[in-house]
Amino acid sequence: MINNLCSQAYKTAKSKGWHNEPRETGTLLALIHSEVSEALEADRKGDQENFVEELADVCIRIFDLCGSKKIDLEKAILEKMNRNKERSYRHGGKKY
Ligand SMILES: [Mg+2]
Repeated sequence: MINNLCSQAYKTAKSKGWHNEPRETGTLLALIHSEVSEALEADRKGDQENFVEELADVCIRIFDLCGSKKIDLEKAILEKMNRNKERSYRHGGKKY
């Protein structure tokens, strides 16, 4: 399911001309970060509808990156979630 979303996000971005040239990973990560910042601003304004939309943008950008780089995000998420279950309480006493 998640890998299908990655494929769809990449195909849509490609069809809109965003992958005519190879894109650097750093650029794609910066774009993900920009969507996180937009979500922060929406939350600061108390705009819940826009906040949720920006969270979706974050995911879509991540899906596009993974689709373009042929990353198996679904497998990575499942493996990491299982590893997280084994971590200590507050990851060994971290403050946050
Ligand atoms: Mg946005």
